[in-house]
Amino acid sequence: MTCIFCAIAEGSAPAHKVYEDEQLLAFLDLFPAHRGHLLIIPKRHSDDIFTADPSDIAAVARLSVPLARVLDRVVGGDGLGVHQLNRAAAGQTVFHYHMHLIPQTEGRPLNIHGRARGDDGELAELAQSLSRALKAEMEATA
Ligand code: 5GP
Ligand code: ZN
Repeated sequence: MTCIFCAIAEGSAPAHKVYEDEQLLAFLDLFPAHRGHLLIIPKRHSDDIFTADPSDIAAVARLSVPLARVLDRVVGGDGLGVHQLNRAAAGQTVFHYHMHLIPQTEGRPLNIHGRARGDDGELAELAQSLSRALKAEMEATA
């Protein structure tokens, strides 16, 4: 069975990418629960936390810090949810280990999954702004 996140990591499926290096990829969720909904994945496939390499999990966590700060600055909102689901019983729908970063506004339901597909033009524009801001954030804290 093909894994959609592996296809995105290999470049054979499209995504609105915000960050990429040899180990990791961050891109916008196609069905955003909120504007700025981001996913971080290790490129190396593993289904979930039970099988992922701890060094991949650590790298995802490390990248979440500058990305969270950039989301807070560029998208705003009142808070930011960091979610990571494992197995269908916990709500996981794509079985390639990943972390969600979801900006939240006061009073809005705490959904992790959006219902509507995001607009490609808006997602592309936002991915570009986030990518630029992330570069600046990483340079400033290097
Ligand atoms: P999970 O439920 O496994 O924690 O989260 C999977 C996430 O992947 C969902 O929020 C879903 O909207 C997102 N998703 C599913 N397919 C695609 C896709 O092809 N591209 C992108 N960018 N996101 C996807
Ligand atoms: Zn995969």
